[in-house]
This record gives sequence, C-alpha cells and structure tokens, in this order.
Amino acid sequence: MKTSVGIGRDLHRLVPGRPFLLAGVRLPFEKGEAGHSDGDVLAHAVSDAVLGAAALGDIGELFPPSDPAWKDADSMVLLRQAWKRVRAAGWRLENLDCVVICEAPKILPWREQIRSALAGALDVDAAAVFVKGKTAEGLDAAGRGLAVEAEAVCLLGKDL
Ligand code: MG
Repeated sequence: MKTSVGIGRDLHRLVPGRPFLLAGVRLPFEKGEAGHSDGDVLAHAVSDAVLGAAALGDIGELFPPSDPAWKDADSMVLLRQAWKRVRAAGWRLENLDCVVICEAPKILPWREQIRSALAGALDVDAAAVFVKGKTAEGLDAAGRGLAVEAEAVCLLGKDL
C-alpha cells in the first residue's frame, strides 16, 4: 500500500450576522465566520489536507475567491468536489485528525455531529475521523474571540 500525509490550516474572522459553521454543522453562537464562501474554516482545512496529500492543488486554486461562483458557497460542497478529485486518483482516506481553535463556542458537544459530517463527505466510517476543540488562552486573534482557526492532518492510502 502506498500512503501519503496531508496538512491543512485555515483561519476566518468571526463577525456578527454570520453562521458559525464547522463541517456544515451550525453551532449556536453570536458570531460566525466571515468569508467569500460560507467561511466554514474546518471544511477548508480538511479540503486542503486531502488535496495536499494527493498533490492535487489547494482550495484557493480550485475555488478562487475571485470567482463569483463561490460567493456564499456551501463549503461542504467544495470539500466533496475536492474529495472527488482525490478519490479519482485512486486514494482512500485512512484517517483524519483535526483541531479547531477558538475561545467559544465549545466544540465538544458537537463533536459527534461534526465527525459524522466529515466522514460522510469523505466516504469513511466516523471512527476514521476525529475532531477536538482548543482555546488559545485569551491570546492572539482566536484567543480574543476575533477569529476561529482549524488544522487538519490526514493519511491517504492506495493499493498498488
Ligand atoms: Mg477559508
């Protein structure tokens, strides 16, 4: 079996009047991600991780913010499109691990829903996907509640 690791990272500003979305799951909160698309920071980080592992580009290249087609786009649709490219190259997802960094809201109550949403988009069992929340100790943009960040690492495999 051939394997390949990928990493993805993203940050979006948090502003009032926008939904707070993680892998398409809407968490109740007074602010949400600013962005040209729906701003789903976790969907973006995961898309870049799987694309990077397969060396098939990145989401800024595939879905440029300059293209009006992606205005307010559902980022889980973008993730599914990215995954389709990766899968077409013969890859399957072995596992995915993610960190979401924000002061609030708490991620833990939503973990299982988020895992299921990512697993569904990536054609794996939820056991192959993990997500945890971290705070930033009141420091930096995430710590001051101005932004939410996500990091994702994945392992892809293919039989040769
Ligand atoms: Mg983004």
